[in-house]
Amino acid sequence: MPRVIPPVPDADDQFFWDGVAEGKLLLQRCASCKTKRHPPSPMCAVCLSVEREAFEATGRGTVYSWIASHHPSTPDAEPRIVALIDLDEGLRLVSNLQGVALTDVRPGLPVEVFFAEIDGVKLPQFRPSHSHGHAQ
Ligand code: ZN
Repeated sequence: MPRVIPPVPDADDQFFWDGVAEGKLLLQRCASCKTKRHPPSPMCAVCLSVEREAFEATGRGTVYSWIASHHPSTPDAEPRIVALIDLDEGLRLVSNLQGVALTDVRPGLPVEVFFAEIDGVKLPQFRPSHSHGHAQ
């Protein structure tokens, strides 16, 4: 049983997975009013434009909330931490946290993206960032 359900790109988020393949966290924004949005969608909720473009995120953010996900077939294994990440771009992304103990996760924890291959699927993951804030 695979531990990861492989992403199935569609027309709206193909660019996102293309970016992941290149080790980039790409986000979408409206090409007309530049409003950023995630998850990708065909139309801007602000100006209703269907023109859109991708841009590369800094990959930095903070933890908003998280859950521990225990795998049903291996309940004793280390739980995967599924987290909502508030990106510096002002968007919220669902991902996994690595490199941190479940008991050390806290709201506002600075994190940064990295890319890991999990069960043959390359995915954006987040880990604690120790240099967060210096670039701001
Ligand atoms: Zn717009």
